[in-house]
Amino acid sequence: MFKTLHNNEDGGCLIKVSSKACTTSNPIRNIVDVMKLEANPSKPVLSLALGDPTVFGNMDAPSFVTEALINVIQINPKANGYAPQIGSPLARQAISNYYTKQYGLKLSEQDVVITSGCSGALQMCIEVLCSPGDSILLPQPGFSLYKTIADSNHSTPIFYPLNPKREWEIDLEAVESLLKNSTSIKAWLINNPSNPCGSVYSKQHLTECLKLSQKYRIPIIADEIYEGMTFPGKNPFIPLASISECKVPVLSCGGIAKRFCVPGWRLGWILVHEVANELQVVRKGLVDLAGLILGANTLVQAALPQILSADSSAWHASVNAHIQENAQLVLKLLNSVPGLTPIPPQGAMYMMVSTRIIVLG
Ligand SMILES: *Cc1c(COP(=O)(O)O)cnc(C)c1O
Repeated sequence: MFKTLHNNEDGGCLIKVSSKACTTSNPIRNIVDVMKLEANPSKPVLSLALGDPTVFGNMDAPSFVTEALINVIQINPKANGYAPQIGSPLARQAISNYYTKQYGLKLSEQDVVITSGCSGALQMCIEVLCSPGDSILLPQPGFSLYKTIADSNHSTPIFYPLNPKREWEIDLEAVESLLKNSTSIKAWLINNPSNPCGSVYSKQHLTECLKLSQKYRIPIIADEIYEGMTFPGKNPFIPLASISECKVPVLSCGGIAKRFCVPGWRLGWILVHEVANELQVVRKGLVDLAGLILGANTLVQAALPQILSADSSAWHASVNAHIQENAQLVLKLLNSVPGLTPIPPQGAMYMMVSTRIIVLG
């Protein structure tokens, strides 16, 4: 195990690391990867874990997903080789077909860039839009990786508030005043369904977000890794791009990590919705950036057409119902604790809890 050095500590060594390494730090991993817990031997351990459906045994990858990969390994030796830098054409075609079939999005394989996880997609989207010194709008509360990537790129995170009283909708007045007062903002990151809020935005709210982005000509990075993970009877998931008039670029990030319970497979993607008839500069930038890493594991890319074309609707419905049941149980239990007020989620795998300090005695 390496000793963890904090930013700007050099441990007395003559060799220094780069400023990029010094400004890159993943707060979640800094805790969970080095955590050593000694459990009370007389009690069972209840892991509250992190946003990984699989590793703590809560949900397993379904057999139609694992079998697709076994199949590739057994019969497709070409899948051991390199793919084009934006990903294999068959996998990109499978992704564009999936969004067209599920949500009516007009996409072709040319609009898809395969990345190393949705994390890789987010990194490429932030880096294609923001130069060092530029700013990016990030949600608060929000997934901590956004700030990690922005810091690593020497871009400045500017946080905009989500409103817990309105099911975590974006405070659009606050966003507008940030946009009015800064010329350095080059991208607006919107996460729907949300980690950590469990919110799912209505069509009307998403439309208002798009209007604002068009007024100030700010491209949107839509983190939609929880695509389709919404509770029965609540707001359905609507891809932001499906209602965009494409007056500003919308870069949608997704992947199979959460939806198919295989976060370790590291396959994600960017869907590029760029202004028609413009120079398509963002698309070209993404293609260039994709040349750094050459996408995701090619075995998983080769398994993707089989995974995405399987009739998985019954399995997805049962997963969503299972998460909703768990959420209802946790809501009920936490509501009975004095000082805790859980905010009901509508999707994804998270719930925020508001706390009040109670002075006893
Ligand atoms: C898990 C998660 C990701 C990262 O997905 P990977 O495909 O595992 O890299 C991105 N955004 C959010 C909001 C997440 O919760």
